[in-house]
Amino acid sequence: MLKKIERIKEQFWCQECKHYFLTYLRKNMSGSFTVECPSCKHHHFRAIVNGVVTETRVRQDHKDILIGLKATLSTTPILRA
Ligand SMILES: [Zn+2]
Repeated sequence: MLKKIERIKEQFWCQECKHYFLTYLRKNMSGSFTVECPSCKHHHFRAIVNGVVTETRVRQDHKDILIGLKATLSTTPILRA
């Protein structure tokens, strides 16, 4: 049996190209991450704690780049709060 790490869908809004997109986070992810818009390649810096994106905007020490899912690009919200 493969050990499955739960994936969490997270929605991002890119103010540069006016698109929403999703990316997958994992529960064991913590730290500062760079989320790249799959449309315009704009970089969004976010602090993530246990797979949850916080409102903290970080501008330094982003250790990993997460690429948004291109297939999910949308001009309207994908997930509802
Ligand atoms: Zn963009």
